[in-house]
Amino acid sequence: MTRNCNFQCSYCYFPHTNGKITDPVSTDTLLDFLNNKNARWLVGMTGGEPFIYPDFVSLCEQVTQNHYIGVDTNLSLSTQIADFAKRISPSRVNDIYASLHIEEREKRNAVPQFIENYHTLADAGFTIKVNYVLHPLMEDRYAADVEFFKKNGVPITPRPFKGIYNSLKYPQNYSANIKSIFASHPGAGTKMVFNFRGVDCKSGHSFIRMEPDGTILRCPGDRTVLGNIHNDVSLNAGATPCAVDRCPCQGINYVDLNPAEGWFIEGMRSFLTGSEKKRR
Ligand code: SF4
Ligand code: SF4
Repeated sequence: MTRNCNFQCSYCYFPHTNGKITDPVSTDTLLDFLNNKNARWLVGMTGGEPFIYPDFVSLCEQVTQNHYIGVDTNLSLSTQIADFAKRISPSRVNDIYASLHIEEREKRNAVPQFIENYHTLADAGFTIKVNYVLHPLMEDRYAADVEFFKKNGVPITPRPFKGIYNSLKYPQNYSANIKSIFASHPGAGTKMVFNFRGVDCKSGHSFIRMEPDGTILRCPGDRTVLGNIHNDVSLNAGATPCAVDRCPCQGINYVDLNPAEGWFIEGMRSFLTGSEKKRR
């Protein structure tokens, strides 16, 4: 939705600024696009920080009339979160992924606020997953943080830091201690990247990526432009061959594999990440 964010985490993947969002996509334009396909979409609201998007809760309210949403948030904007909890039906929200970013939050004396916002949403019936980016600097305090948040009713899942720290690349150079933390959260530390080049895939048809300016891309891995919701979007008529070597997204849910290939991939995923996923 935006690259802007009210936090400034040192390890953020994206260049972020805390400026105002001046050119939001209008809700009507977005709804026209979503509703025109006679389909129900699951719309992943992410950023940056989606709760800083102008009228974000109203946007969610209108999208969830016919569709479903998921939200990635730093859970810091209490007023908007309380409003979201009141106005949005949990039955229309797939998951809320809340990132803890403990150092940023401590700088702002906002740890109690995070706990409160978590419970506001959990008490309203939303499913929230709290992620803790395990930057190497967090190694010594991680166990105490997990304990503290557990006592406050907030379960934490570690997430790998991906980037360079002290000239070393992570997560490859994690200490044995951090590796052992991920060993007890097998699904959290490993993300599968596939190579499905040449395999028929329904992305561009039933799975797409929208950029903040309304540009529609086939998927996060294949950035072929299919149009812009302000003008015209031409979605693929069905599955077409994947044209890239790295599928960093949810491609496994959209590629056409025969049953044997599907079970083989599923077995590998289960072995490497400990997680199972239903293919759509
Ligand atoms: S909260 Fe997320 S998007 Fe914002 S600066 Fe931190 S990592 Fe980046
Ligand atoms: S397999 Fe992955 S990268 Fe390729 S088109 Fe499908 S979703 Fe995109």
